[in-house]
Amino acid sequence: MFGRGFDSLQLHFLILSVFMKRYLFVCLFAVFALLVSANNFNYENVGEGYAEDDIEASIGDDNEDYTEIDGDTIVDNMNDSLYFIYRNDTLFVFGNVGILPKYVTVASAEMTNTYKRLFKDLGTDEGEHPCDSVYGFTWTHNWVNPYKVPIDSMPDSVEVDMSGFVMPIRGAITSKFGMRKSRYHYGTDIRLKTGDSICSAFDGQVRICDYDPRGYGNYVVIRHNNGLETVYGHLSQIIAEPNERVAAGEIIGLGGSTGRSTGPHLHFEMRFLGNAFNTEKVIDYLTFEPKDSVYLITLKNTYSHNAELKALKAAKYIVVKKGDNLSVLAKRYGTTVKKICQLNGIKSNSVIRIGQKLRVR
Ligand SMILES: [Zn+2]
Repeated sequence: MFGRGFDSLQLHFLILSVFMKRYLFVCLFAVFALLVSANNFNYENVGEGYAEDDIEASIGDDNEDYTEIDGDTIVDNMNDSLYFIYRNDTLFVFGNVGILPKYVTVASAEMTNTYKRLFKDLGTDEGEHPCDSVYGFTWTHNWVNPYKVPIDSMPDSVEVDMSGFVMPIRGAITSKFGMRKSRYHYGTDIRLKTGDSICSAFDGQVRICDYDPRGYGNYVVIRHNNGLETVYGHLSQIIAEPNERVAAGEIIGLGGSTGRSTGPHLHFEMRFLGNAFNTEKVIDYLTFEPKDSVYLITLKNTYSHNAELKALKAAKYIVVKKGDNLSVLAKRYGTTVKKICQLNGIKSNSVIRIGQKLRVR
């Protein structure tokens, strides 16, 4: 028994050592591959679109200094082997990760790839994008509104050149801009048949081509030379490419019903500095022409829905519990039965059930 046991133990060690060697080899290879790939993320590869001179910040134990470029904080350790991109409270590191200060979090290789791709996309041949100065040189491929300018602090009275507008698709409006039950509808829905051509409304440059399964579906965002941005949602197919320069009337995709949609339509948005406004304010949907050749954006008129947005932000929803009725709820939340009925589209004699969701503010 002992002999056999010893043999099997020996065999076990033999297998283990072979396995260890193999594992060690795999490990070493992984580390090697990581280092090689990490070293590929040098500044020239990663930061295309930024001039090296733009980065003057340094990183050190006691002398931290950051530079904000394009919404990202770029930190360079000045020895040309490490580059840092600080975003969403995570420091992404490119280069030789072996000599990092202790407090630095290293993102996964996959993350660095994501950022590499993002940064590569930043540049165009000219290195400029429409209305860069208006948009603070922010040019991202993942957020419809990366600018986060509160409507109250938007510039007032901005003239926008509407000449050259081409209707993306000629069709009837099926849903208007404005309040939906518990959310806001930031676009105008236009009827179409799946596969219909969708074109760019103005000259500009494609900023986003992406897929949002719970919202826009396949969608395109274009920054226009006149300062507006337009969004085209629920496409069956995207034809445009990020950074592509497009002319008004150029086909950018095919209509469809992808994302949060109940039937084929185009969800069409117009935005200025990230904030959507009603396209019906500027487009005549009978002639599909702009109402004026120059549109004056003002907070008072263009963003007249700001009060609704604020109310929505302050909205409070509750779940009806045992013993609740409209007057009890009105008293509890300092409002009136009439107001609750208005907010929920119900009558004062409506029966409310336990578990029902109601808006009380
Ligand atoms: Zn819509």
